[in-house]
Amino acid sequence: MGSSRKLEDLTDEVAANAKRVVEVLDGVGIDLLIYCTLRPLEEQARLYRQSRPWSKIKSKILDFQNRGYGYLGDVLEQVGPCSGPHVTNAAPGESWHNYAEAWDAVPLIGGKPAWSYFDARPEWDAYGECVRQVGMVWAGDWTNFREYPHAQKRPGGNPLRESDPDTIHEILVGNGLLTT
Ligand SMILES: [Zn+2]
Repeated sequence: MGSSRKLEDLTDEVAANAKRVVEVLDGVGIDLLIYCTLRPLEEQARLYRQSRPWSKIKSKILDFQNRGYGYLGDVLEQVGPCSGPHVTNAAPGESWHNYAEAWDAVPLIGGKPAWSYFDARPEWDAYGECVRQVGMVWAGDWTNFREYPHAQKRPGGNPLRESDPDTIHEILVGNGLLTT
């Protein structure tokens, strides 16, 4: 299962914010594509593993186990080897996409995604402004590992710092991302 792009997979509040951002931008003639909402733990694990050697993955798994998040370590182990570019600092459970509280979006110009900020600066800046206006955090404002497409509800970078392992487990089961 890959990531969802459905707004219904977000929490009600975040989905309403996403709709609002799309509407406001539409009102000024900017077409926005929301291409990622809820991201399964396995997908997060693949993205995390794809740019890292096994030694790094192994120490992350041990770190999860030591902190009471063995169930996240299991996901990281079970997806197996992956390869690809560095796209995330977040292991499974460490992204707000795993909690239905974040989305990724890109402005469309002539129907095509304008991935480069510098090629579509007015559109990206308008998007960032709308995200701020609905009270969310735009990762285009971050100075460390800036991500123009990413918007999230809470300022904290790591959801695991906000709750204990049992609460996190409960939320992930509630989202349907974990079965046990
Ligand atoms: Zn994102």
